[in-house]
Amino acid sequence: MIKYLLALCAILMGGASAMPAPKPKNIILLIGDGMGLTQVTAGLYANNKKLNLERFPVTGLMKTQSASHLITDSAAGATAFSCGCKTYNGAIGMTRDRKPCPTILEQAEKSGLATGLVATSSVTHATPASFIAHVGNRGEMEDIALFFMDTELDFLVGGGLRYFTQRKKDQRNLYEELRRKGYDVSDFQSMPLTRTQPDPAKPFAWFSAMGEPDSAKAGRDYLPLAANMATNYLSKRSDKGFFLMLEGSQIDWACHANDGPRAVAEMLDFDRAIGEILRFAEADGQTLVIVTADHETGGMVLEQGEGFEVLDLEFNSGQHTASMVPVFAYGPGAERFGGVMDNTDIYKNIARLWGFEPEPTDADPKTKKQ
Ligand code: MG
Ligand code: ZN
Repeated sequence: MIKYLLALCAILMGGASAMPAPKPKNIILLIGDGMGLTQVTAGLYANNKKLNLERFPVTGLMKTQSASHLITDSAAGATAFSCGCKTYNGAIGMTRDRKPCPTILEQAEKSGLATGLVATSSVTHATPASFIAHVGNRGEMEDIALFFMDTELDFLVGGGLRYFTQRKKDQRNLYEELRRKGYDVSDFQSMPLTRTQPDPAKPFAWFSAMGEPDSAKAGRDYLPLAANMATNYLSKRSDKGFFLMLEGSQIDWACHANDGPRAVAEMLDFDRAIGEILRFAEADGQTLVIVTADHETGGMVLEQGEGFEVLDLEFNSGQHTASMVPVFAYGPGAERFGGVMDNTDIYKNIARLWGFEPEPTDADPKTKKQ
């Protein structure tokens, strides 16, 4: 009895802060590759000063350095999100000691959740690959494609068909193998995404390009549609919930090319996809949405252009930069993503919210003291 009273007192005195965070049923991680605060701002001004990103109640800042460099690449950046460990640039789902690390997507899959990956790059490119594959070097595209054969990934949209059908290493046709595994699989040649109808009874894959998909400026427009399809499909695919990673992959590429208008087009395409995701999350009420970037690209600068309200987009670099990047969160558990965090905290917070075992791979004292 005394024990019970003491426990009751502790609860009353602890107040709301002692309450566990609400557990989101679904978690959607949206990654704008190369999307620093300046890229977000450029998109905002180019879009009549409005972005879906403004609808997020929680914002934070994220440190992006990798284990090997102050300036991360997308492989180490995405592995920090997927596995919660700092690793070397180029590593896909591997620790700094070159050991495979279990990813949040794999853990979700094991727990019976539905899972999805959507990108505007090839599906074997560093960011999506880091959620599903484990290879020492991001360039091993054919090896990365093999990992799609060994998972129960439910929803896949992106480019890179050639790493499945025109394989130099083993002449396997992984596209046909996916079909034999039970996937409803199609591609840009056989059917536009608008004409596909993913059936929640079957896993679904649609390839958007042979290699890397076109830019948004050149007419690529499947990302918002894929966002909408993915949420509808995944919410029906499992009663337990789902994990979806969706990437605006080409903000980074436009900034490497120091092409301001192309970067803005990619930013707005990504923001439209974010709008679709938010619409689902608002109606659903059990979905946590996190938007962030792996790093900034190009050292983008906003300068006064010719004329009132005209921006001139300039760049200081053709590479990634080390500046912190923004984090936006909406839904149950969102408050964990406020303030200043490390890129590994994205994984750690998701894992804690879902009650997954924290991964013991992030043991570098140098990183921990910072
Ligand atoms: Mg990427
Ligand atoms: Zn890049």
